[in-house]
Amino acid sequence: MLNGIPSSPGVYMGAAVVEYSKVDINYNEVINDSEIEANISKFISASRELSDDYTAIISELDKTQPNIATILESNLMLINDDILKKDIISYIEKGYSAESAITLFYDQQRNFLLSTKDSILRERAFEIDNIKDRLLDIIWGRKGLFQVSKGDILVVRNITPSELIHYQSMGIAGLITEVGGLTSHCSILARSYEIPAVIGVKDACSKIKTGDTIIINGYAGVVIVNPNNEATSHYNLKKIIEKEHQDRLGQIRNLPSETKDGRYIKIMSNVDTMRDIDNTVKTKSDGVGLVRTESLILGLNTFPDEESQYVSYSQFADRAFPHAITFRAFDIGSDKFTSETNFHEDNPALGVRGIRFLLGREDVFKTQIRAILRASANKNVRFMLPMIINLPELKATLDLIEICKNELKAEGQMFDSRMPVGIMIETPAAAIISDILAKNCDFFSIGTNDLTQYVLASDRNNEHLSDSYDTLHPAVLRLIKITIDNAEDAGIDLSICGEIAGRFEATKLLVGMGVKSLSVSPSIQLNLKKNLRSMSYKNAKTFAKNVLKCETPEEVRQLISANHP
Ligand code: PEP
Ligand code: MG
Repeated sequence: MLNGIPSSPGVYMGAAVVEYSKVDINYNEVINDSEIEANISKFISASRELSDDYTAIISELDKTQPNIATILESNLMLINDDILKKDIISYIEKGYSAESAITLFYDQQRNFLLSTKDSILRERAFEIDNIKDRLLDIIWGRKGLFQVSKGDILVVRNITPSELIHYQSMGIAGLITEVGGLTSHCSILARSYEIPAVIGVKDACSKIKTGDTIIINGYAGVVIVNPNNEATSHYNLKKIIEKEHQDRLGQIRNLPSETKDGRYIKIMSNVDTMRDIDNTVKTKSDGVGLVRTESLILGLNTFPDEESQYVSYSQFADRAFPHAITFRAFDIGSDKFTSETNFHEDNPALGVRGIRFLLGREDVFKTQIRAILRASANKNVRFMLPMIINLPELKATLDLIEICKNELKAEGQMFDSRMPVGIMIETPAAAIISDILAKNCDFFSIGTNDLTQYVLASDRNNEHLSDSYDTLHPAVLRLIKITIDNAEDAGIDLSICGEIAGRFEATKLLVGMGVKSLSVSPSIQLNLKKNLRSMSYKNAKTFAKNVLKCETPEEVRQLISANHP
C-alpha cells in the first residue's frame, strides 16, 4: 500500500501504465565553441514546438472549456518569455549543451519558487519542472512514447496540464504522481475531469510496474498495488456503495436545469466549508454563488493575515474551477462577531455591519481584497459586497480595489484585472436604487434573509416574530421584482442567495419573476433541479404576475399552495 495526497475523489481498479524513467542529465555537459550555434537552434526549435503544442491545445479548449484554456496560457507565457529564453541561450553561449542549459536554468527557477513562503508559488514549481521535462522530451524525441489504453491508471513523476488533457482524451481512469500539490493545475484538471487522483506518492514510478493491477482511492489518498482478495472485495464493496450513491442522485445530475419550455436556470451553491465545495462538484452545480467568508474566521480572535486568507481562498477557487466562485467580503457585525469586533451596540442589526464595518477598517478590508484578488489569477473569482445602502459605499470600495490592484501590479503579483465586483441587495435602499447601483457594478445577488428583516422591521433571529418575518410579504416580493427588472435593463447578472432560493414552493414564483440563477445549499440542488424541470416558464410568468397582485401574505400563500403539488 502506498500513501499520497487525495487530490481528486473516486475509487477505481485498473492496470498501471508507468512513465519511462527519466535519465538524469549531466548538468555540466560542456560543448565546443563550434557546437554552440547548433545547440542554440536545438533549444529554439524545441521551445517553438512546445509553444505550438500549447497554442493548438489552447485554441481547441477555447471553444469548449475557456477556463481551462486560461490555465495553459500562463504556462505558454513562460515558454515564450523572451527574457527567460535569453537566459538559457546565455548558458549555451558559456559552453553548456542545450539540455544542460535548460536543466540548469529551470532547476534554478524551481528551487527559487520552492524556497518562497508562498505555498501557491511553491506548487507552481512543479509546473516549471514540467516545462523543463517537456523541452527535454522534445529534444530527445521522446514525444508520444507513452501508449495508454482506455481505463488505464497513469503513473508519472509529474504531468503537465497539456499532457493530462491529452491522456484524458485517450481515456485514462486514474492518475498517480510522485510530485505535485493540491492546488497545482494537474490536480484542478483531474478534479474537473472527475479522474480519481492521488499525488505526492513517493517513488511511485519505481514501486509500480506497467501492467500491475492498481486500486486507486482518491478519497483517502491510498494506492494498493496488486491487491489480494481481501483488498479486492473491499474495493468491490466501495464501488457498489459509490454506484448506489450515484444512482440515488440519479440521472438528474447530468440533465440541464431548465424548464419544460427550455429556459435555463443556473443552480449555484452557497458554501461555508471545503466539504460544501466538494459537494457542489458532486451535484454538478453551476459554480458558487456565495462564500460567506466570515464563516472562515469564526472563532478566531483576530483577522487572519493576507497570506493565510490567500491560501484558503485559492483552495476554494481551485476546487470550484472551472466554474465561477463568489467570495462575499466579511459580513461582520450584527449577529456575526469575531472577538476583535466585539463592541457593544444597542441595535446591532442596524449598526456597524458589513460594508460599514469594512470601510471603517481599511486595514482589514484591504488585506481581504488583496488576498481575494491574488486568488483570482485563474479568472474564476467574483467579489461581492454585503449590506450596501448607497452608491458612495460601492464607489469607495471600487476605489480601494483599484488601489490594491496597482499595489499588486507593482509587486509583480498575478490577479484577474477584470475580476467581477457585485453587491448583495439586502437592504430596502439598495433594492429601491438598484437601477443606479446596476450601472456601477457587475452583478447583483439578492439576500432575501436580510432584505425581509429590513423591509418588515422584523428581526430574522427573533422566534417571536416568525409570523411577521415573512419573505412572501408583497412588499418584499415587489422589491425583489424591481431589482430583477433593473438588473435585466442594465444587462447585469442577478441571482438569489437568500433562503427563499431553496424553498421549492417559491421556485415557480421566482422563475416567473425573471430570476435566471439561484444559489442554494448543495444538499437540495438535485431536488431543486427536478422541480425546475417540471415547470413551464410561460406558466410561471403568468403565475408570478398574479402573485404580485396579491394584497396580503396570506393571499400569496394561498395562491402558491394552490399551484404547488
Ligand atoms: C441574506 O441576507 O439573504 C444572505 C444570503 O446573507 P446572510 O444570510 O449571510 O446574511
Ligand atoms: Mg445578509
